[in-house]
Amino acid sequence: MNALNRARHQAREFFGDVAGNPAPEWRTCFSTDGTEEPTGIAPVCPDEDHEEADGSVYVCCPNPVVECDSGPLAAYLVELLNADHSGGGA
Ligand SMILES: [Zn+2]
Repeated sequence: MNALNRARHQAREFFGDVAGNPAPEWRTCFSTDGTEEPTGIAPVCPDEDHEEADGSVYVCCPNPVVECDSGPLAAYLVELLNADHSGGGA
């Protein structure tokens, strides 16, 4: 198992524990740093009252919510994580 697959496997165990889903779909989100850009990432919220276009984080939202301190970094991490979510991962 190479380093990427090992890290992916360990992350899936972590996501299963904290998000209740080993391969959640991810979104960028507005976190708590007060900037106007979505600089955080979080799993897509399954709550039907939470509209998909609403990038805020509420009590309905699954963890982990991760502050990335950068809109471009957050967007990149979401694309990488969702590449795994879409079945690109081993
Ligand atoms: Zn939510």
